[in-house]
Amino acid sequence: MPVLVMKFGGTSVANLDRIRRAAKRVGVEVAKGYDVIVIVSAMSGKTNELVGWVNETSPLYDAREYDAVVSSGENVTAGLMALTLQEMDIPARSWQGWQVPVQTTSAHASARIQDIPPANIEAKFAEGMRVAVVAGFQGVSPEGRITTLGRGGSDTTAVAFAAAFGAERCDIYTDVDGVYTTDPRISSKARKLDKIAFEEMLELASLGAKVLQTRSVELAMRYKVKLRVLSSFEEQSDAAGTLVCDEEEVMENRPVSGIAYSRDEAKMTLLSVADRPGIAAAIFGPLSEAGINVDMIIQNIAEDGRTDMTFSCPVEQVKRAEQAMQEAKDKGDINYHNLVADTDVAKVSAVGIGMRSQSGVAATMFKTLSDEGINIKVIATSEIKISVLIDRKYMELAVQALHDAFELEKPA
Ligand code: ADP
Ligand code: ASP
Ligand code: MG
Repeated sequence: MPVLVMKFGGTSVANLDRIRRAAKRVGVEVAKGYDVIVIVSAMSGKTNELVGWVNETSPLYDAREYDAVVSSGENVTAGLMALTLQEMDIPARSWQGWQVPVQTTSAHASARIQDIPPANIEAKFAEGMRVAVVAGFQGVSPEGRITTLGRGGSDTTAVAFAAAFGAERCDIYTDVDGVYTTDPRISSKARKLDKIAFEEMLELASLGAKVLQTRSVELAMRYKVKLRVLSSFEEQSDAAGTLVCDEEEVMENRPVSGIAYSRDEAKMTLLSVADRPGIAAAIFGPLSEAGINVDMIIQNIAEDGRTDMTFSCPVEQVKRAEQAMQEAKDKGDINYHNLVADTDVAKVSAVGIGMRSQSGVAATMFKTLSDEGINIKVIATSEIKISVLIDRKYMELAVQALHDAFELEKPA
């Protein structure tokens, strides 16, 4: 029988009533003749609560135990979803990551899926099971320990299952009815897109649009998974939501197609480091080993053989980054006068594949921010995006002003 993957995010399984509503949608697809793999998130707010408990217990926690704790939210919803389906007379059972098994790397808290052998679940489908409910976000390392895939990782679980089982489609059910030109919670003028190109979705996701986890888009692109984002709160229809697809299938042609933001950024500056060959490697090597996701980097012009090095990273990694730099300094690998952390910054980005061929996007972006009196602290560009780091208090304003400036409320 054809396989369909349906993923339900936190708000779609937030309580027993929501789980029942989600299960009804699954029932509709089962009735059409699909074998369904349902991927569930934890109830909304649950993972944040678990992360909070870990941080309170141990600020520089052992990531293996972090994973043991934060993966547990999905176990609850997987079991409840299977029970709900059974109550509807649909043959279903739950699977935790290790039972499938979802084999991952040992990079705890940000593990990557390496393989999902389909045999165990396929055997159950062959015996008449119609729905496999799989706990999202989790897997098992080669050492046999529980891993998690990074925040928002259930999206990636869903796409990986769709690829492993050759699913006809991967439907991501969430609390908005598709992918918008920007977060509809920030701008009331945000417009829903019927289609978005993989490359643009990838860039938007990696720049903070949490509607899909970045890795899920990467996988969908690589394995040609038909990926759709839709609301679990609205009427069921085959044409609903946003389809993430190849560039050629998207009709809109404009320089910018979306604005993304990332609220919880930090800007860290190492003051007065020696300007010598190998200094960047001596700084960013230890940061990488400490698992810091360094994003933007600026090296100032040197004066008297010393320079300042600035980088940005997620705000929750500041303590770890400081520790890594202090250790490198203590070992004599680097020398700096001071490490200054600005934890009140946010990143705002304009994304569009049209930028490849149309100029003037950066100029419009800088002028718009300047007209709003917003100071730019760091700039980074690539072929299809421009990002700026600004004071967090201006983030919403910047997103709205840029959305207006690029006229994203109007269909192209
Ligand atoms: P789930 O729990 O279902 O995985 P998430 O909270 O992870 O849901 O993702 C959905 C949220 O993503 C929306 O509620 C919305 O606020 C946010 N979001 C950010 N950028 C966008 C965008 N461009 N389009 C749609 N939603 C977006
Ligand atoms: N529950 C996890 C999180 O909140 C994974 C997910 O929902 O995708 O990050
Ligand atoms: Mg999510």
